[in-house]
Amino acid sequence: KKTTERGWNLDNSYARLPKTFFSSIEPTPVESPALIICNESLARSLGLNVQDLQSQDGVALLAGNKTPEGAMPLAQAYAGHQFGHFTMLGDGRALLLGEQITPEGERFDIQLKGSGITPYSRGGDGRAALGPMLREYIVSEAMYGLGIATTRSLAVVTTGESVLREKKLPGAILTRVASSHLRVGTFQYAANWGTPDDLRRLADYTIQRHFPEGAQEENPYLYLLQEVSKRQALQIAKWQLVGFIHGVMNTDNMTICAETIDYGPCAFMNHYDPATVFSSIDRQGRYAYGNQPHMAAWNLARFAETLLPLLDEEEEQAVKVAQEAISEFADLYHCNWNAGMRAKLGLFQEEPEDKELIKGLLSMMEKYSADYTNTFRALSFDKPAESALFKTTEFESWHKSWQARLERQEESKASSLELMQKSNPAVIPRNHRVEEALEAAVERGDYSVMEKLLAVLSNPYGHSPEHSEYATGPEPSKEPYRTFCGT
Ligand code: AMP
Ligand code: MG
Ligand code: MG
Repeated sequence: KKTTERGWNLDNSYARLPKTFFSSIEPTPVESPALIICNESLARSLGLNVQDLQSQDGVALLAGNKTPEGAMPLAQAYAGHQFGHFTMLGDGRALLLGEQITPEGERFDIQLKGSGITPYSRGGDGRAALGPMLREYIVSEAMYGLGIATTRSLAVVTTGESVLREKKLPGAILTRVASSHLRVGTFQYAANWGTPDDLRRLADYTIQRHFPEGAQEENPYLYLLQEVSKRQALQIAKWQLVGFIHGVMNTDNMTICAETIDYGPCAFMNHYDPATVFSSIDRQGRYAYGNQPHMAAWNLARFAETLLPLLDEEEEQAVKVAQEAISEFADLYHCNWNAGMRAKLGLFQEEPEDKELIKGLLSMMEKYSADYTNTFRALSFDKPAESALFKTTEFESWHKSWQARLERQEESKASSLELMQKSNPAVIPRNHRVEEALEAAVERGDYSVMEKLLAVLSNPYGHSPEHSEYATGPEPSKEPYRTFCGT
């Protein structure tokens, strides 16, 4: 297959699944597309011609007014547990154009989000607003900068049309890039509404696409379950280690390849508190910071249920095998989290009392409402910041045992600090910074605030004066920060 001059090299392997998994449909054209932001380095790594992508023709593609050569636009069918309630979903405002094969031979879904109504739109308008699409762009690229597996953002275009939410908002389309959009919810859809053959085809496709080495295993479906569990255990540990709160960990928002997806209501924690919730609709705290590992395990159990018919012919045996596999998640998660925490504290090897040391710091941070990111960052430079926590006698005694622990290591103090500086970001996408950038962009058409923010976020572990500027937490506010999904 030939790459076009523009660099498009699309394949459509998902479209070769049984028809029940998608609906073929063209994007709905928009009035007057305009490019707001384009991720040039991502475009290049995909093999796309950057200049061409930013031309009028390229922007028409990003807006869905034209489709690239080789595209077979389709909306994916999926189901999901939303806050615990199972329902049919599907791409209600997104279309998969195809899978771009990069010059390196990797395969990435190219998806337009906000591209118009599909058979899965239910009551929705199929559209998206500029603010939330830029928010996804910023936070997903921040996650990428932090070294966390994530869907990425290739571009945002405005449509020249408005979308009606609580008020009229400028319409926009985000081009999302993902290793795939296969979700736990895709398997739930197959298990509930597909034939046994549909389910097997989906599982085989997933193994071939993401876990090809598994095809050789005695039980490839068990391998699939174990690997997804492993990847999720690493993913969620990374979220916890940087204070990321996803906000809507419904099973349709949990990808099989374990890339973070759906940046609707997510936000980063400021002061350390496991009960932190930002999403306006999460009134029970189901997806609170401290509950994320538990919810990931719950989602994984839903995934395992869908695989039961494939795991063993005997149902009882299938359940046993599935339970064994998912029971490993908690250990895997804790192992990753502890290793990450040790690195955040400059510890190279594991000692039995490390867990107490870690717990001790976190409970002090909670008690004194210390900023999670800045506390670790201050420790990484061996200089106490202006935090109430550092002035307490509790901290003093914790600090002594930590220093003693560091001294017991063979590695030098300098190499410990180096490890810490690599493991503790200076800059996270602070909510007030993201809001500030969005306000400038959406209200005033000033994209410079966002571009400056994106630049620091692309190198979150640096320590320039700019990093210090962006490290500051929000001013105390009476109103808690709130996020919203699906706008
Ligand atoms: P989310 O909460 O973002 O995971 O979305 C849940 C479901 O709602 C998915 O099936 C989306 O495709 C759908 N959805 C969200 N916003 C819209 C919209 N504006 N129009 C149609 N469907 C939507
Ligand atoms: Mg979603
Ligand atoms: Mg969403």
